[in-house]
Amino acid sequence: MGPLGHTLSGVTVYLGICTATRRKPTIGETAVAAVFANAPDLDLISAIWAGFDHANKLHHSYSHTLGFALFCGLIAMLVHRKRPLFAFSLVALSVIAHNTGDFFTRDTSYPNGLMMLWPFDPDYMIGPSLFLDIHKASWMNLISAPNIKATIHEFLAFTPLLSILSFILLVQRRTLSGASHEPR
Ligand SMILES: [Zn+2]
Repeated sequence: MGPLGHTLSGVTVYLGICTATRRKPTIGETAVAAVFANAPDLDLISAIWAGFDHANKLHHSYSHTLGFALFCGLIAMLVHRKRPLFAFSLVALSVIAHNTGDFFTRDTSYPNGLMMLWPFDPDYMIGPSLFLDIHKASWMNLISAPNIKATIHEFLAFTPLLSILSFILLVQRRTLSGASHEPR
């Protein structure tokens, strides 16, 4: 999955948390979700640094694991001590959203998939191809027609879910503000 799909998956997780907890969404927390929903792909920097030939061997490694998600969540808990459970949920679930997106993305390069459940299971695993693969054999490849097509596909996949969550949140906010203005 590409950066737009990962960003939208993080925002979806955040709006889901807001819906479940009747929390008012903020721009700052949306940005945190978007950043951590893209964080696992920071391994691409070292992978591309080593050369595009090695990109797939180094990519989808330890940063794409349940262990990394829990680690990021624990750091967030320590940083945001006023609401540690919320901070843990937001950050860990955003990373897990990334890994879940990659799990359902077509991957024809060895090793296929990701070590999603490490350290509990060290095997690479991959699910059905719901999303198109991102081509990264060269710099020019990154902005190629297949990658643009994959990005549009991701946008169309997340838009209905984000629309539904936004609608539910809007209704919740109106209900809450209506209740607070009722005469006692
Ligand atoms: Zn990834």
